[in-house]
Amino acid sequence: MAKRIMMKAPIVDMGGDEMARIIWDMVKDKLLEPYVDLKTEYYDLGLTKRDETDDRITIEAAEAIKRHTVGVKCATITPNAERVKEYNLKKQWKSPNATIRAMLDGTVFREPILLNNVQPAVRFWKKPIIIGRHAYGDVYKNTEWRVEGPCKAELVFTTRDGQEIRKTIQEFEGPGIVQAMHNLDGSIKSFARACFSYALDRHVPLWFATKDTISKTYDGYFKEAFRKVFVEEGFKEQFEKAGLQYFYTLIDDAVARVVRSEGGFLWACKNYDGDVMSDFVGSAYGSLGLLKSVLVSPTGCFEYEAAHGTVQQHYYRHLDGESTSTNSTAIIFAWTGALRKRGELDDIPELVQFSDALETVTKDTIQLDGIMTGDLARISEPPARKTANTREFIEAVASRLDNVL
Ligand code: NAP
Ligand code: MG
Repeated sequence: MAKRIMMKAPIVDMGGDEMARIIWDMVKDKLLEPYVDLKTEYYDLGLTKRDETDDRITIEAAEAIKRHTVGVKCATITPNAERVKEYNLKKQWKSPNATIRAMLDGTVFREPILLNNVQPAVRFWKKPIIIGRHAYGDVYKNTEWRVEGPCKAELVFTTRDGQEIRKTIQEFEGPGIVQAMHNLDGSIKSFARACFSYALDRHVPLWFATKDTISKTYDGYFKEAFRKVFVEEGFKEQFEKAGLQYFYTLIDDAVARVVRSEGGFLWACKNYDGDVMSDFVGSAYGSLGLLKSVLVSPTGCFEYEAAHGTVQQHYYRHLDGESTSTNSTAIIFAWTGALRKRGELDDIPELVQFSDALETVTKDTIQLDGIMTGDLARISEPPARKTANTREFIEAVASRLDNVL
């Protein structure tokens, strides 16, 4: 394939920070640009640029994803107090991922990249378990307080016309704690739609679980909303046609079944369950450097990224002139995800083939050549033939890619 692949519509390319930013440029330079006439709209979401633009650049990037429907994002620093000092920031800007997710009303799906020389901690797992996390409400938007002594805690609902309804939470005899949380019909249904659609897109069954036997109203509503969307919005027919199952159970039963399963399904999780389970499932599959992530909006926008952060510690070593061994696999797969989606939407089969080929040679470099970065070399079976530094790994992938194309 000597001919460079031409694109039709652009991908929104969002630059980031630290080690991830360095890998970002290497991947484009060594693995993409030699073969693809990359058509991108670039937004620099690096912290310096966000500070300079009062974070308008993040909003512009999200608008661009809405326009072009496909984006790819590099990891970015979410500033804390230390970062404010380090970068001399005007303020502690919000997480770009949170801003983009809110603007697209999106759901995040995380999926491990499986390799035959990196065994999952759970030996039954043969296929990926994709986690879909609801990203609104519950304990993340709670109100909580410390009860210092005897008192009565109540929930009070005030309607627009001033009527009050009260429910007693607890008559406290001594100190304790109280928490209140909420969710919205619209957000739950939108999450359900995103999960049913993504399961169909990836052709995998969907699992969903709550604790509705205990939380009859709150979790009960989640269960009912999923059922309603499934039955009333045509997903049931589509699942039947595709030979896929929608499976609902209790969260503790789900966890037990997940561990005994061979994988190969999408697990829709409530916000807190998704927070916990995505770290559990992600680390049980091997390394953060093997975890993909995609944000899917109900209007059909897709934003691809690696699940890991900017790999700050490696970056400081890099700045000190030391060699780093940072895994670029998830970043490469973020790009192939975006390019493949663009190829499918714009009917460019060569672009889909290129994405498949790049994923295959990346895996082959690790599995067949035994060339891998330190994070994988530590857990690989059989052991690595070569522990590559950041650049060497990308160059090894590039040379394999050059041979197949
Ligand atoms: P991190 O960047 O994911 O790195 C945590 C540790 O995981 C690293 O020190 C490294 O462990 C290992 N690791 C992660 N990715 C790796 C890779 N590709 N190859 C090899 N090892 C890898 O998380 P963090 O250090 O907590 O966060 C750093 C910055 O990233 C923060 O400013 C945070 O705000 C940001 N962040 C951004 C996103 C995003 O934009 N999506 C997500 C998370 C965090 P060893 O040191 O043991 O090698
Ligand atoms: Mg977490």
